Amino acid sequence: MVQLNRKNQVNKKDKRIFLSSPHMSDEGYEQAYVKEAFDTNWIAPLGTNVDEFEKELAKKVGIKSAVALSSGTAAIHLALKAAGVKKGDIVFCSTLTFSATANPIIYEGAMPVFIDSDYKTWNMDPDALEEAFEKYPDVKAVIVVHLYGMSADMDRIVELCNKYNVSLIEDAAESLGTYYKGQHTGTFGNYGIFSFNGNKIITTSGGGMLVSDNEERIQKAKFWATQSRDQARHYQHSELGYNYRMSNVSAGIGRGQLKVLENRVAKKNFILTYYKDNLNDLEGMQLMPDNDWDEANYWLSAALLTGEVRPNDIMEALEAENIESRPVWKPMHMQPYFKDFDFVGKGIFEDLFINGICLPSDSKMTLEDLKRVVLTVRRVWGNK
Ligand SMILES: *Cc1c(COP(=O)(O)O)cnc(C)c1O
Repeated sequence: MVQLNRKNQVNKKDKRIFLSSPHMSDEGYEQAYVKEAFDTNWIAPLGTNVDEFEKELAKKVGIKSAVALSSGTAAIHLALKAAGVKKGDIVFCSTLTFSATANPIIYEGAMPVFIDSDYKTWNMDPDALEEAFEKYPDVKAVIVVHLYGMSADMDRIVELCNKYNVSLIEDAAESLGTYYKGQHTGTFGNYGIFSFNGNKIITTSGGGMLVSDNEERIQKAKFWATQSRDQARHYQHSELGYNYRMSNVSAGIGRGQLKVLENRVAKKNFILTYYKDNLNDLEGMQLMPDNDWDEANYWLSAALLTGEVRPNDIMEALEAENIESRPVWKPMHMQPYFKDFDFVGKGIFEDLFINGICLPSDSKMTLEDLKRVVLTVRRVWGNK
């Protein structure tokens, strides 16, 4: 337990502590792969790093094929196309997520129906999903999110999608390194996507990956992602194309980062455990759930505040000490842009949003940094 000790008080001159920021390996793996790209002049989309990064990631998560793309958002977009989603189709989507999960549904002219969370996982509530299937039996696809690296209840979600014969897309942007009952998240559905944006558990400075056991569909996604160029000497296109491929330089960073994924997961787990050990005794403070089936990467340590202290009190106190924190993602169904789309569930998402807070979870944090956060948070209770 960290004691409240005025002598330990920190000030604004202390270096900023981030929510989650890029963290390159100490060994310099990333630079070695990027140098290789320079040395062979493959400073282009495609090249060895891209091919190898795809193979290495597919092997790591245990799936047949993968295509490296410019972002996780692009991966969701191509997953929807691969699943055959067309204009006017209905797509079920977790409401408690980042907008990049839902935006590609609109790119395709389809209609999202947002699904509630449950307290057990904070992710898609299987009961609400079942209710949605009854209400919209002709739904075309489901996008389930593994928020903050906690897995959704995949057994029931997969069972429901099979029963209704609907494609399942897993948004595993935040859950690389998370296993549900020993199987990697992103490999349960027909398609899975990962993100390597700067704030994710590993990064390529920006990028994403679409994975599937269906090699034919991955080849098709690769074709769309490279401008849908037909086999011809001249530029010929019989389908709409996209410029969605990952660059060979970015893929080099990704290959290096993949080597330290386990270290990052261990550190993120350490951070959450530290917060649990040092904050869970506070009145109304409840760190995120831990389910037996889940080996989570705990990309972000989040908490619910059910007492007198509000998330804003903590965020303000942390900001005054130059420490970054954030509310829980604002649910899609509460966003001005998506407000007219339907929602199914009891409204648990609202409770998670209003009472939730994401604490700094940067894998570069030292024990001193963690103590700084804990002291600052505990002081909010001291002042009440
Ligand atoms: C980051 C993120 C995305 C989007 O990934 P980008 O690579 O930034 O496009 C999608 N879904 C979730 C849940 C995310 O956190």
